Amino acid sequence: MNAGGRQLVKEMMGSLGVWVKEIVRQAETVDDERSAERLEQRIAAEGQRHLARLLGGALQVALDAGGPQRTCPRCGSRRRHKGRRVRQPLSRLGVLRLEGVYWHCPRCGQGGHDAGRLVTGTMTRWLEELLTLLGTTSASFAKAARLSDKLLGLRVEDETVRRLSLAEGRRAAATQARPVVLPAEASLVGSCDGVMVQTRQQGWRELKSYLFCHEGGRLSGAHLESARRFVPRLREAAVTLGAARVGPFFFLSDAADWIDRGVRSQLPMATRIIDLWHACQHVYQAADRLHGEGTAQAQRWGRLWSERLRQWGGRTVLRRLERDLTRSPRRGRRQRWRALRPLRVYLRRQQQRLNYPEYERLGWPISSGPMESHCKQLGQRLKGPGMRWHRQNVDPMAALICLWTDDRWDAYWSAAA
Ligand SMILES: [Zn+2]
Repeated sequence: MNAGGRQLVKEMMGSLGVWVKEIVRQAETVDDERSAERLEQRIAAEGQRHLARLLGGALQVALDAGGPQRTCPRCGSRRRHKGRRVRQPLSRLGVLRLEGVYWHCPRCGQGGHDAGRLVTGTMTRWLEELLTLLGTTSASFAKAARLSDKLLGLRVEDETVRRLSLAEGRRAAATQARPVVLPAEASLVGSCDGVMVQTRQQGWRELKSYLFCHEGGRLSGAHLESARRFVPRLREAAVTLGAARVGPFFFLSDAADWIDRGVRSQLPMATRIIDLWHACQHVYQAADRLHGEGTAQAQRWGRLWSERLRQWGGRTVLRRLERDLTRSPRRGRRQRWRALRPLRVYLRRQQQRLNYPEYERLGWPISSGPMESHCKQLGQRLKGPGMRWHRQNVDPMAALICLWTDDRWDAYWSAAA
C-alpha cells in the first residue's frame, strides 16, 4: 500500500540528515585536491539521488491531493478503476516512483494513469528538452548520450536521444516561427546558401538554408528540398519579420540562378547584393585557370584582384582586366582571354550587384559572415564522418540546429510546453 507522498518526504528528510553527517565525516579526511574532487563527485551523485526522491515524493503529494481522476479526459465518461500501479518516469534528477490509479474508459477504450497528468511520457518534459539539446549540439547521438552521463549524471541509450531529438525536430519543423515586430527603420539582412548532406537514399543532397538577421535577433531555416519548394520559404520568413514594412532590406547570396530568380520573385523589395566571399571565389577560380591550380602565383593574383573587386567594384574590375589583357604580350594572350572568360562573363552579368565601394560608402552589408558560420554549424552536426541520414530526418535535425543557433530555443520550448 502506498505510504503517501507526505510520508515519503518525511522519510527522505530523515535519510538526508544521516547522509549530511556522513559527508561531514568524509570531509574530515579531505586533505588535497584529489580527495576534494572525490567529495564533490560524491555529493553531486548522491545528492542527485536524494533530490530525485524529493521530487518523487513531492509529485506523489500532488497526485494524492488531486484525488481520483474518475472522469475520462477524452470523452467525459466515468472510467473504471483498474487498480493502483507504479509508474517510473525518468526526470532530470533520475528515476521517479509514482503510485496512482490506472483507469480504463469503457466508452472510448482509452486507458490512463493518474501520473499522466504530471508526466505525460516516459520522461519529464524538462529532461526531454535537455536531452534534445545534447542531441542537437553534440557531434552525434552517441556523444550526446555520453554527455548526458558526464554532465547530467544520467545514463541513457544513444537511441533514446535519437528518437527524442527526431520527434522534437519534427514538431519544431512544423512550428511556425512567432512573428517579430521590428521598428520601422530597422534594417534587415537576408541571405541563403547550401550545405551538402549525405542521405541514405540519394547520396549527397543540398540542404538549402536561409538566414535573416536584424538588430533584435535572427531567423533561419534549412530544408532538404528543391529550389521550387524552398524559395517560397524566403517570403514566409521575410513576412514573419515584417520585411515589407522595415527600412533597408538587403539580400546577400552567391547569386546562383535559383537563388537569384527566387529572390527576385519572392522578395522584390530586397536590394540584392552578391556577398563578397562568393564573388571572390570566382576570382580565385579564374586565378587557378590562369596560373595553374593552387600555385603561389595563382594565390597572389587571386588576392590582388579580390582586393580590387572590393575597392573598385565589378564594373571597374572588368574594364581593367580587359584593358590589361589587350595590353599584355601577344604571346599566350589568346589563352589568357580564354582562361578569364568565365570571370568576365560573371562580372558583366552581375556588375549591378558587385558595386562594393558604393555599398561600403552607404554602410550596406557586403558579406554574409553569419550565413557562412550558420552553414558551418549545420555541417558540423549533419556531416560528421561516415554520417548518412535518412532523408526524412534531415529537416527535423536542421530545425533544431536553427532554433539553437538563432537563440530561439527557449522561446520554442516555452511555447511548446
Ligand atoms: Zn473516454
